[in-house]
Amino acid sequence: MAQEDVFKKIISHCKEYGFVFPSSEIYDGLGAVYDYGQCGVELKNNIKRYWWDAMTLLNENVVGIDSAIFMHPTIWKASGHVDAFNDPLIDNKDSKKRYRADVLIEEHLAGIDDKIAREVEKASRRFGASFDEEQFRTTNPRVMEYQAKRDEVHSRFAKALNDNNLEELRQIIIDTEIVCPVSGTRNWTEVRQFNLMFSTEMGSTADGSTRIYLRPETAQGIFVNFLNVQKSGRMKVPFGIAQIGKAFRNEIVARQFIFRMREFEQMEMQFFVRPGEEIEWFRKWKDARLRWHKAMGLGDAKYRYHDHDKLAHYANAATDIEFEMPFGFKEVEGIHSRTDFDLSQHEKYSGKKIQYFDTELGQSYTPYVIETSIGVDRVFLSILSGAYSEEQLENGESRVVLKLPAELAPVKLAVLPLVKKDGLAEKAEEIMNMLRFDFRCRYDEKDSIGKRYRRQDAIGTPYCITVDHETLQNDTVTIRHRDSMAQERVPVTELNSIISEKVNIKNLLKKIIN
Ligand code: ATP
Repeated sequence: MAQEDVFKKIISHCKEYGFVFPSSEIYDGLGAVYDYGQCGVELKNNIKRYWWDAMTLLNENVVGIDSAIFMHPTIWKASGHVDAFNDPLIDNKDSKKRYRADVLIEEHLAGIDDKIAREVEKASRRFGASFDEEQFRTTNPRVMEYQAKRDEVHSRFAKALNDNNLEELRQIIIDTEIVCPVSGTRNWTEVRQFNLMFSTEMGSTADGSTRIYLRPETAQGIFVNFLNVQKSGRMKVPFGIAQIGKAFRNEIVARQFIFRMREFEQMEMQFFVRPGEEIEWFRKWKDARLRWHKAMGLGDAKYRYHDHDKLAHYANAATDIEFEMPFGFKEVEGIHSRTDFDLSQHEKYSGKKIQYFDTELGQSYTPYVIETSIGVDRVFLSILSGAYSEEQLENGESRVVLKLPAELAPVKLAVLPLVKKDGLAEKAEEIMNMLRFDFRCRYDEKDSIGKRYRRQDAIGTPYCITVDHETLQNDTVTIRHRDSMAQERVPVTELNSIISEKVNIKNLLKKIIN
């Protein structure tokens, strides 16, 4: 199945089974805003719990906070967001569609990369085992021509971004003959900067209202609370502050379901270190974060690092963790070494001293910061993309199954009486009452047992417990495993321990510590 079709199927599956709904749907929706349904909210909460525990239980020097969404407007001046949190936008005059100029150029570069990859693949098939890719890339005239073109566009593009040269961005689009995918024309407007922050008014106008912003990231709430947490928690550098919360960005192009939303949720951690030790800590967090992702078992090959060669002026190292979504490898998490930029800026703009006295060194300094910043919604999408599977069964039927990590699945088990009569329903209810305190359980007695299994497969329930006539005789049930569909007979009294062993988030946490 084409990856595009897989993505469409995931989106409709999310809606059909209560994971994600378009926001305000009965009013025809609101662009790039989504609601999480009954299954979605459970999965999302489990992702947040997994991250929170990985940060605050596995590291005794990482503590959490929950800061407000509204903050003093000067914070966004200090952080650079008022002046520089912009995307370059361009419109096509014929289709009236709006695009990010940088994304159009990036897609053009990716198109050249694809052409090169196709040539390499063709040649590798032709030459078989004797194929030397390196030699082919450096000698084949067609590949060399593509590569030269790519390098030229790439270096112009990098320079234009660095110099903030909007005219040059437009010129690259014209020179490379990029057309609008909708109208097919090259009738482009000028490129303009567009600030991504949403703003609103606080206070009534009569009193003199203040323009404030909806936070575009949660990190600033951590920076401005650095001293509060350090002092009240008696924290010693190195230490970290973690936070989960909503962030808002008025994204220009928001077409990839929950990958790019205007209201989304971030999980961020700022780790404060001694100046000079930041690169060592950057490496540690880079490793630790990839382990967190891989522990979910979606497939190690689906992850890769993307180290930044163009760094923000305040950063001295940066990498993204990318996941192979149905629409290609995309950023899920960013890890940045941000030097002392943020704390120094807040010191400057607030006029308050933000320093740490290091008793071991006997001196004060502004700590350096390693930031790990991850979108809950993008993790959600990576899990759905990795877990969605259509299977042809031996009996000729097919099933859609979400192979979610059992520890994160919204519903852990379903209790299913084989038939409603003969006291099986009552026995099933008794089992539900025994298990509901520890696990999110579903009870289902409608339709054939096969259909009921399918319903649970579709929401990723790892275990189905079937109550049959034998249950009444010897107090045993069958457990059916979602992925293998294997069934085993176990005593009712052992259910709790069998299931807890499999669904506890602790399992994931144990995988990520060395
Ligand atoms: P992109 O380049 O994809 O716009 P970014 O580099 O601007 O992302 P950061 O500012 O580093 O993203 O934000 C950290 C994390 O927050 C991202 O890795 C991503 O998981 C998440 N995130 C950022 N923007 C969005 C969005 N519009 N919708 C959903 N998640 C987002």
